[in-house]
Amino acid sequence: MYSEDFRNAVFAVSKENGFNKRITKIDFTSSSSCKITVVSNQGFTNWSFHVSFDVVNNYTISSENTDSLLPEAFAQSIKNKLVNRDMEIASTSSMYVPVARIHQEEMICPKCKQQIYDPTTEYCFNCGVRL
Ligand SMILES: [Zn+2]
Repeated sequence: MYSEDFRNAVFAVSKENGFNKRITKIDFTSSSSCKITVVSNQGFTNWSFHVSFDVVNNYTISSENTDSLLPEAFAQSIKNKLVNRDMEIASTSSMYVPVARIHQEEMICPKCKQQIYDPTTEYCFNCGVRL
């Protein structure tokens, strides 16, 4: 995971409804973890939790307020963003497949230097050498 992606996900989620009025402070403690300070429902006291993500977007939470569901909801929202981001990256990289195929179609026989038009063929159509 890239630090920038994690930061962007944390900032985006903290601005969403339900979080924006509760989260008062964000401290990044590493490239994939942060400490979030939350104001209590009554608005008088603050408490904080720490959420840390691993490379496969799983998270661990340690919270000062184990009764609150907010840390879990916050971490789950970040996870959704990170997973969606990974899926976008995967779909973008699949666009390069046709380019690789074109490259393969321009394969050259190592022996006679003839162009091989069928990338799936095992033998050179010209000299018969095994490719
Ligand atoms: Zn050949």
